[in-house]
Amino acid sequence: MPDKIHDLIGVGFGPSNLALAIALHESASPVQARFLEARPAFAWHPDMMIDGADMQVSFLKDLVSLRDPTSGFSFLNYLHHKGRLERFINRKTFFPSRHEYNDYLGWAAARLGPVCVYDQRVTAVEAVEKNGAVDLLAVTAQDAQGHETQRFARNLVLAPGGQPFWPDCFADQRGGPAVIHACDYITARQARLKPGLRIAVLGGGQSAVEIFADLAAHPAAPQLDLILRGHAIRPADDSAFVNEIFGIGYTDRLFALPPEARSAFLRDFAATNYSVADADLIARLYELFYEQEVQGGTRLRLLRETRVASVRSQGAGVVLEMVGGAEAAPQSEAYDLVILATGYRRALSETVLAGLLPWMTGSQPGRDYRLPMAPRFAPQIFVQGYSEATHGLSDTLLSVLPARAQEIAAALAPPSDAARRPVLAAE
Ligand code: NAP
Repeated sequence: MPDKIHDLIGVGFGPSNLALAIALHESASPVQARFLEARPAFAWHPDMMIDGADMQVSFLKDLVSLRDPTSGFSFLNYLHHKGRLERFINRKTFFPSRHEYNDYLGWAAARLGPVCVYDQRVTAVEAVEKNGAVDLLAVTAQDAQGHETQRFARNLVLAPGGQPFWPDCFADQRGGPAVIHACDYITARQARLKPGLRIAVLGGGQSAVEIFADLAAHPAAPQLDLILRGHAIRPADDSAFVNEIFGIGYTDRLFALPPEARSAFLRDFAATNYSVADADLIARLYELFYEQEVQGGTRLRLLRETRVASVRSQGAGVVLEMVGGAEAAPQSEAYDLVILATGYRRALSETVLAGLLPWMTGSQPGRDYRLPMAPRFAPQIFVQGYSEATHGLSDTLLSVLPARAQEIAAALAPPSDAARRPVLAAE
């Protein structure tokens, strides 16, 4: 038997597992949890911290308030601690900047104490098998120097966030200098941007529009193309009745529907989140193009109804062969840099849980976010962000974090007469 066994290991320490750590802490749960995070310190989408970018969800949907508005981990308490509460009120908005929200999340993580070990990229989760039964999980993690550490846990919660999506035609460019995903934007901008570059941004969602607007205003003034498959950049529907689908009660409602009805519902409301951008940002972009027309420039281009058919390297850059759009014939454009704002994908089979697939009896988590496992497999495996098909569009977003954390904490709670152990034990 290993010397130390954690009740719970959490893979990833973004908002979902942070909300869970807080829920465990505040419920004085005896579950001893250890979270492992690949980044060297807390950071939430650091390469999409574009100056001027706002949150798309109200600060009242923070890590805790919908579960317990009196929690010390609320955004309001963060503002109070930072001495900005009154000035934030004067702004008359529900939407902090992404910089401020990241600061809030980091403040909450620090306030929890040493519950997370950073610089630990989990590379494998294996079942520790004894006489055909499994009571323990072995979790292997690597630091930036490649040193491996193995830890053992009775339960696991997976919350690593989505994986950047690379369309097939760009697969060969992965790791190269000419094509990056939006998730690496700020680092690439700092390292690469200089006057005279030709840059394409691919996609028509919030990331694409934020990056395009940021580059359009950059002093290096690159030649910029925004390439989208659709005809127009569409606004995210955040109107009041529609926004109710992100309410906590909708999880039960959607889960109770038959699969076809759920799929229809998700399709119907996809434009609340996918391939859409904030209306104010769309208006800003339209102004940019209008003003360029007034002044007679051509630096910014919108290539609509355009598909990238193939990609080839040319020197340090790439050439995109594109079809559709205003040109009848395929067009060929050379770029120094292409930024894929093509969204994120989540597939359990591509995560560190792949090693446990033989023990899984199904791929859909239950209502309590627990994966169905074989009878002789005792560890409970929870997932955060892999249940959109059954739990609704809020599953990959921030809206239901406090409620989901509470539900997972409750499912993990041992019988009430169990011996109490410290929750936030230092490693
Ligand atoms: P997204 O909404 O999934 O949009 C992806 C875009 O990529 C779509 O326009 C899609 O085009 C396009 N695309 C996908 N595959 C393609 C292909 N093979 N060829 C060409 N285009 C392709 O992704 P996102 O904009 O990164 O947003 C993801 C999430 O992050 C959303 O929840 C968003 O609200 C959030 N976000 C928030 C902020 C903020 O809080 N300020 C900032 C950025 C992102 P089609 O429309 O043709 O499918």
